[in-house]
Amino acid sequence: EPEPEQEERLEEEVPARELDAGPILVVNQVERFFPVGNEQLHVLKGIQMEVQPGQLVMLRGRSGSGKTTLLNILGGLDQPSSGEVYFRGNPFHTWDDDKRTLARRMDIGFIFQAFALMPLLSAWENVELSLRMANVPKAQWKSRVEHCLELVGLAKRMHHRPFELSGGEQQRVAIAKAIAHRPRLLLADEPTAELDSQMGAQVMAVFKNIIRTEQVSICMTTHDPTILEVADHVYEMVDGKFV
Ligand code: ADP
Repeated sequence: EPEPEQEERLEEEVPARELDAGPILVVNQVERFFPVGNEQLHVLKGIQMEVQPGQLVMLRGRSGSGKTTLLNILGGLDQPSSGEVYFRGNPFHTWDDDKRTLARRMDIGFIFQAFALMPLLSAWENVELSLRMANVPKAQWKSRVEHCLELVGLAKRMHHRPFELSGGEQQRVAIAKAIAHRPRLLLADEPTAELDSQMGAQVMAVFKNIIRTEQVSICMTTHDPTILEVADHVYEMVDGKFV
């Protein structure tokens, strides 16, 4: 049993933290082949990229150009066939699945096109679930859930379930859920694809805001040309290559 004093300390807001000094991601000569029948499908071709602390980086390209495959490799969900991926200086490409899973749970957040919320849980419970999964001490849950839902503009919707929210609001719950455990990197696959342009703009405004307040870097895929202007850097992908 912890001392009462210690419990009080745990309930305080987690202190602000510094941005990393070095790059969040460095990608060197990444190739990815997928075996299809007797052939090898060449999906990523000599990918070189960097994400610096506090940057919003976009991967733009047509459907089938390889964006999702690259995003999965950046997040440690998949391995390159060859080449190097350094996450905060750590050689992800040399790590086994278990080690990458651990790093991912601690330091990476994911947002998918179709929101990926638990349908029977409220916004609050959805965000809390991600804190539970990341082994964040229970004493911090309440303040962290409140903080994250306020950050995405949903302070008045905390107890709504997904079906009681608009698409844009659901996506903002998904963002709160993805940043709750304080990841260093947020990866988002077409986060605005299912939204109209106004809701899409709101999601991008939330991204800009959390970069500032949460010291997170964001790498997202998109094929929407209207949101490119908010990016710090855009990589254009054609047929598995940056052009
Ligand atoms: P995008 O996200 O730009 O639409 P993807 O990365 O999803 O592109 O897919 C790029 C190409 O790789 C596609 O031709 C797709 O069919 C192929 N591909 C993706 N994943 C696999 C897999 N696991 N096995 C075989 N082919 C795959």
